Amino acid sequence: MTGSPSPLNVLLASPRGFCAGVVRAIDIVERALELYGPPVYVRHEIVHNRHVVERLRGKGAIFVEELDEIPAGAPTIFSAHGVPRAVQEAAVARDLPVLDATCPLVAKVHVQGRRYARAGRTLVLIGHAGHAEVIGTMGQIDAPVHLVSTTEDVAVLPFADDTPIAYVTQTTLSVDDTRGVIVALNARFSDVTGPDVADICYATQNRQTAVRDLARHSDLVIVVGARNSSNSSRLREIGDEMGVPSYLVDDGGGVERAWLDGVETVGITAGASAPDELIESVIAAIAAVRPVSVRQLDGVAENVSFALPPQLRRPVRAAAE
Ligand code: SF4
Repeated sequence: MTGSPSPLNVLLASPRGFCAGVVRAIDIVERALELYGPPVYVRHEIVHNRHVVERLRGKGAIFVEELDEIPAGAPTIFSAHGVPRAVQEAAVARDLPVLDATCPLVAKVHVQGRRYARAGRTLVLIGHAGHAEVIGTMGQIDAPVHLVSTTEDVAVLPFADDTPIAYVTQTTLSVDDTRGVIVALNARFSDVTGPDVADICYATQNRQTAVRDLARHSDLVIVVGARNSSNSSRLREIGDEMGVPSYLVDDGGGVERAWLDGVETVGITAGASAPDELIESVIAAIAAVRPVSVRQLDGVAENVSFALPPQLRRPVRAAAE
């Protein structure tokens, strides 16, 4: 006779999941759908999460990669990652009504980068090649931007060590992620300036701090998020770096029974673009294997929210009247 399986402790990281920039971006699409009626066009995935994209697609959002896929006059939304200036200019040239869902923290990096370039500094961007936010940031600054990801990249930057330089960073890198590269910049160059990295993105830093705490209390870490979500992948890596087997799943369907063998406590967190219902689906998948007792760890309380673009600030009904 076999006994019933022992209960599994499920610990939830705090904070986890949606950040204010993602909430705002999704709100913009939903309100635009109410205001203009479907379809509305969104350039690039509004946030890096398939479930969010599918849900909005179901309501009438059409996702495209380039503006020329958008019919003349159709409401157009730029994703939370931001866009190069050329894209903004092309939208104006085509007379597309634009709602910009670029996260205000990303927009702040654009402003800062332009300011450094105007001050005559050679600009370095710490980030990952090919990421939508990096493409947007590089295209927002009318000066050469040198992208670095690692300390090795710093060593081969093609300018003299006394060149006045300034750096900005991709928002989905935390203070901890960028520290090594910033140290390398300061070690090589004699005149380096940069923003106060502590206020680049509160959400990235808070989720990374929380997953470290989670890993300290867990035998296994599950991160809910998309593979193309930079901040979700980083959360999984941090779990691994803490010596705890860590997996990234889209939703409950990604949970493998074998992961739970011999595990007493499983920690769950979610990237900034992963909705709550996906966390629920992961808990349900685990509960289907073993009974669970769920608890949330203490963590930083977030109370950040960002204003909507002016066109959407009025109540939708009033705007339509
Ligand atoms: S992770 Fe940070 S920068 Fe990115 S959308 Fe969220 S709040 Fe904005």
